Amino acid sequence: MRIDVLTLFPEMFEAVFQASILGKAREKGLVSLGAINFRDYAENKHNTVDDYPYGGGGGMVLKPDPIFRAVEALAVEPEAAKPRVILLCPQGERYTQRKAEELSQAEHLVFICGHYEGYDERIREHLVTDELSIGDYVLTGGEIPAMAIIDSVVRLLPGVLGNEQSAVTDSFSTGLLEYPHYTRPADFRGWTVPEVLISGHHGNIEKWRRQQALARTWKRRPDLLESAALTKEDREWLAKLESENNHET
Ligand code: SAM
Repeated sequence: MRIDVLTLFPEMFEAVFQASILGKAREKGLVSLGAINFRDYAENKHNTVDDYPYGGGGGMVLKPDPIFRAVEALAVEPEAAKPRVILLCPQGERYTQRKAEELSQAEHLVFICGHYEGYDERIREHLVTDELSIGDYVLTGGEIPAMAIIDSVVRLLPGVLGNEQSAVTDSFSTGLLEYPHYTRPADFRGWTVPEVLISGHHGNIEKWRRQQALARTWKRRPDLLESAALTKEDREWLAKLESENNHET
């Protein structure tokens, strides 16, 4: 996979692209990661990338020409797949693990990081394929959202995570929040590990983990249960939790 980020602050990506799992994925040749300053594509004397909004009002607006030119310069190889061009913005589709899975299938992703008040609307209308938001709050720029999305996509690429860090049971991948984890010691300050986990009985461990994942999701994110794939046994367990809760209250 190839990922290019268009930003006014490429230096923000240096550490993120070199460290930990992203750095290793890059070293192994599983992904190519680049940060490009779209100011380099401004064709005016002062390399200006923003201007005052038509109609007045506060804040500066990113001009269309440098961003269009920077994206067009990336798509020069005629045989290469057309990139997904992703605009980071608080008004975009809310980013989820499903979207991470979808993006991880693409060959080439281009992220456009905004700054200031926003973008010229023609970028949104005529250049991008996706608009993504990482949540209902406003950051100063699209760099941190781009990093969050890139990290979550790259860890899904084949060969990036070892078995010991498999993404298969992660929260949201299964449609549920993940079950609780414990490691040694079995007794820490009098707080003990659930008996079943040290029993060595794989069937019981699997059942306990499924029930814990369901219970945790039911308590913290009941909205996820509406779209999760549930078995008859899962539904019976949820009904039991519900009835115990009704008795308590
Ligand atoms: N005036 C804009 C609005 O009300 O929608 C907010 C602009 S914000 C200060 C500057 C840039 O930060 C945005 O263009 C976008 O690239 C990025 N940004 C801020 N919050 C974001 C979020 N929740 N998700 C994705 N990008 C965000």
